Amino acid sequence: MRVVVLTFALLAGCGAAPSSDDGAGHAETAATFPRTHRVENAVDLEGRPLTFDVEDGVVVASGSLGDDVVVRDLGGALVVPAFIDAHVHLSYWDVAAEHASGGIAVALDLAAPEVTLTSPPDTSPLVVLRAGPMITARGGYPLESWGHDGYGTECDDPASCAARTDTLLAEGAHVIKVPVEGVGGLDDASLTAIAQHTHTHHRLLVAHALTDRGALRAARLGADVLAHAPVETLTDETVEAWRGRAVIATLGAFGRSSAIDNLVRLRDAEVSVLYGTDLGNARTTGIDADEIALLARAGLDAAAIVRTATETPRRVLGLPRHGALGVGDAASYLVYRSDVHADPTRLARPDEVVLDGVRR
Ligand SMILES: [Zn+2]
Repeated sequence: MRVVVLTFALLAGCGAAPSSDDGAGHAETAATFPRTHRVENAVDLEGRPLTFDVEDGVVVASGSLGDDVVVRDLGGALVVPAFIDAHVHLSYWDVAAEHASGGIAVALDLAAPEVTLTSPPDTSPLVVLRAGPMITARGGYPLESWGHDGYGTECDDPASCAARTDTLLAEGAHVIKVPVEGVGGLDDASLTAIAQHTHTHHRLLVAHALTDRGALRAARLGADVLAHAPVETLTDETVEAWRGRAVIATLGAFGRSSAIDNLVRLRDAEVSVLYGTDLGNARTTGIDADEIALLARAGLDAAAIVRTATETPRRVLGLPRHGALGVGDAASYLVYRSDVHADPTRLARPDEVVLDGVRR
């Protein structure tokens, strides 16, 4: 039996009725949505036909499930991988389920108490990668402000900072995060030790650096990723120092046009741009329309914006199963029936969110 489910017809105003080619048409509900199915008649960001099979929540070779499979005919809708939000704080605001339901498959938590590494909260279906606490100087950022409750861990010198790095990585930290400003905080030798130990474990060092001097210093001492687009206008020297590395945009976090200008210049210097919202400090779950609009102001079209949330973080963060829809990837995808190319902010409102083969 070949069952075709015309999910396109389920949307109000589409005109057609649900149907199947064996006459046994039925409407999908979350309860009946099949984790094993075939996606047909979809298109990718370039408008090319897209078909794939999903077995038990994982993408398998197209056609490998034979004809005895539920077919989801998407009526020409756009399908992209579910988004990756590379900057969140779920210990600050516990909205993992809501974030996932809005289209986020993976989130990188960039500062949380150390206990979240050793006994991570159940965030299913959101896959959460963690930095644990920022490694910082005694009384350094963020301990005296929003992060006084374990969001930073202190060290004094290269040996103690290296030891803290090794411990967090052994506890499962996916990246290490440090605050870096132009003056104050950890000294150069301590930051260098953190970078070296992070790289020995083949992990990335993420720097919180909002000023030009901070961003330049972070690059020189071995940081790989900027946690935010800096808000102070960057010098050409600093932009060049970041060439080939990565920046998490978070353009909405500080609301400064200088951050947009910096992002444009960093992107021109082949700095990889990652979508990130600073969720927790920011208060929009799911895909953030304001952040999308700011990325568009920085000159990114819809396809480029999707790449900042899919294939680019997949590559930069080393995610084996997310940010793409190839064989072996999680069947986590978004369906759009509106024209996102005409208005990229429509990316914030997917018509369907499917995570691990399950519609949310
Ligand atoms: Zn943050």
